Amino acid sequence: MTDEKNNTNKPKNQFELDPERLATTDEEGHRVYLYPEDVKGKWKDRRHLFYWFLTFVYLVVPWIYIKNKPMLQIDIFHREFTLMGNTWFGIEPIFLFLVIISTLFFVAFMTSLYGRVWCGWACPQTVFIQGLFLKIDKLVEGSARKRRELDQGPLTFEKIARKTVKWTIYLIISLHIAHTFAGYILGPRELLQMSLHSPMENRGIFIAVMIFTGILLLDFGWFREQFCIIACPYGRMQSVMMDENSLVVAYDSKRGEPRRGDVSKDKEGDCINCYHCVKVCPTGIDIRRGTQLECIACTNCIDACDEVMEKLHKPKGLIRYSSENELMGKIRKAITPRSIIYIVISFSFIITLVTFLSQSGNLNFQFYRGIEAPFQVVKNADGSSLVINHFTMKVTHQGSTEHIVKLEVQDLALRDKVQIVTILNPLKFDKPEMKTPIFLKFSPKILSEGKRMLKVNVKENDILTNTVEVPLAGPIINN
Ligand code: SF4
Ligand code: SF4
Repeated sequence: MTDEKNNTNKPKNQFELDPERLATTDEEGHRVYLYPEDVKGKWKDRRHLFYWFLTFVYLVVPWIYIKNKPMLQIDIFHREFTLMGNTWFGIEPIFLFLVIISTLFFVAFMTSLYGRVWCGWACPQTVFIQGLFLKIDKLVEGSARKRRELDQGPLTFEKIARKTVKWTIYLIISLHIAHTFAGYILGPRELLQMSLHSPMENRGIFIAVMIFTGILLLDFGWFREQFCIIACPYGRMQSVMMDENSLVVAYDSKRGEPRRGDVSKDKEGDCINCYHCVKVCPTGIDIRRGTQLECIACTNCIDACDEVMEKLHKPKGLIRYSSENELMGKIRKAITPRSIIYIVISFSFIITLVTFLSQSGNLNFQFYRGIEAPFQVVKNADGSSLVINHFTMKVTHQGSTEHIVKLEVQDLALRDKVQIVTILNPLKFDKPEMKTPIFLKFSPKILSEGKRMLKVNVKENDILTNTVEVPLAGPIINN
């Protein structure tokens, strides 16, 4: 977006980054560990408030119960989805597909408008590292400078003690995060029950949670910005979704350049080359080189530079949320055809999902003939014959609502001639799948009249919800 006009290939100090390689690698390609300095400012306050909210959402929500059910549970093993006390059973893969695809297009829409807002404000990677792990670093090992000195210093008792305390806290938090995410799938009470028994009783789940804990520990404690820089697929794709109207964290080179030290004092711009923006960057980049893939839009550099500008009595915003068009003096379009396409596609999938969920509570009926004799013929008290057909009625539905239904013969002329006998009375369905025996009693005359199929109406609150066709079986007897 902007060019670093006055940069030479030779770094001038430790914060002047080499233009040929990442800030997190040295000349030999080894990792350079970052110690981002602390920053104060309105963007940090806003972000950290939001991080607390998200930490609550990520870590507390699955432990809250509504109507005796977890507030949110995605039980992939039983294909059940619970939200705010409602459960949808037998969830099809299409449901998951619709959730993922609508979310992806919504993120694409947000990216086209606000750049990597997801990375800086909502990604669990950023929320946990910035909101928790860096705070632990500061609490246990002190400021960025002290942390750097401790790591580069000799192995002392103090160093071992601080590292032990820090990694123990990391481990406790990682365990809690891993268990919470397992709770999203298994349900917190079930997870608690499992925790009270030997791990060997639920070996698979125990191993999965331990592996996940290890991954979190390594990622949040050590790998950190490397994940955003080299592993995150979204980070690689985001430039495709953005354009010159997208709002990104950007350096105003027109105002800042030429920076201090490169020209005489009367010609210099507002940037005093203090590197404060570089020192606070969690991915170690220099935003003055323009929008880069490594930028997670965390806004630290905005606050850092604003602090400097305030001290210099210059207007804030040398680094700010802006678009390429705005920086070039053009008007930024708030909505572009690209963002409209993204949001339309996202909403189409959301509407499909809602329609799918609203219809998923409907009951489905199947009649299976009894496995013993297909029919029985018995004699009435008056000597006439009566045919009995035995079925098992299987009822499935995906919603969480209880259904109370009534069965009746559709053909008015047959209502007196065919009797439907059920064991359950009323027929109440409150499980995703239920089976109940059904008996049809009728005169063999019906068969001699050519009736071989019977239409049965299913009514809920006197409203017709289903019609099921049931085959009749029996001998043709004319009495
Ligand atoms: S350049 Fe600024 S916004 Fe981007 S990651 Fe670094 S500090 Fe955060
Ligand atoms: S913090 Fe501001 S003044 Fe300092 S180097 Fe960065 S852009 Fe320039």
